[in-house]
Amino acid sequence: MRKKVIAGNWKMNNDLNGTVSLISDLKKELNGNNVEVEVIICPPFTSLETASTLLKDSTIKLGAQNMYFEENGAFTGEVSISMIKSVGCEYVILGHSERRTIFNESDQVINKKIKTAIKFGLKPIFCIGETLEEREKGITFKVVETQVQNGLKDLSESDLSNLIIAYEPVWAIGTGRNATPQQAQEVHQFIRGLISKLYSSNFARQLVIQYGGSVKADNAKELLSQPDIDGALVGGACLKADSFAKIINAV
Ligand code: PEP
Repeated sequence: MRKKVIAGNWKMNNDLNGTVSLISDLKKELNGNNVEVEVIICPPFTSLETASTLLKDSTIKLGAQNMYFEENGAFTGEVSISMIKSVGCEYVILGHSERRTIFNESDQVINKKIKTAIKFGLKPIFCIGETLEEREKGITFKVVETQVQNGLKDLSESDLSNLIIAYEPVWAIGTGRNATPQQAQEVHQFIRGLISKLYSSNFARQLVIQYGGSVKADNAKELLSQPDIDGALVGGACLKADSFAKIINAV
């Protein structure tokens, strides 16, 4: 049985005050009742240390939204893996579509980041997904396959034991237009089949594949009840404790 994993990507939202109040509201909403679900929050870098302290007595895990692949050095403005680990992160989101499109991150850069995360024991949440144009051209599977092959290049099954894949159709992110449960399930099934071909069916069966793209309290249940959807990566709806808790409770 794969455990369901619900992660909240705060993106560039919440300063320290906002962090303190959102985490305190979330802890009240969940009240420690999320034992069967892995709950992760990914605040901005500047809030990670505070978040980590606030989450000490909680089962909620901490993740970063990005990191650089080099270990240290002259990379002005970048944040390294040891920095995010030292403030309590267990997870890191890599390859988010906003990083790919706004910051020009290529599959090759994402592959380097995944390798660094694995080398230093951080769990990657590896995001993939097609644009609307690619979906309309009928090349969704091809796009997703290329992203998986390039992103996981030169990594073995044992390297990937802590990997999570997040399928996030770009046209559904922040648009209010989610993939239907059937559309999402179809791609999740394809990804699991691909992982089975590239690695093994046993590994593919255990791999957590989250769906992301306008997940809300009112569509979470149906999406999360699909056989190959093992959780959600949530953007907008994780910024209010009650709506994020409703998604978690939908599991
Ligand atoms: C995301 O940023 O990963 C995301 C899925 O955002 P939203 O839930 O707002 O579509």
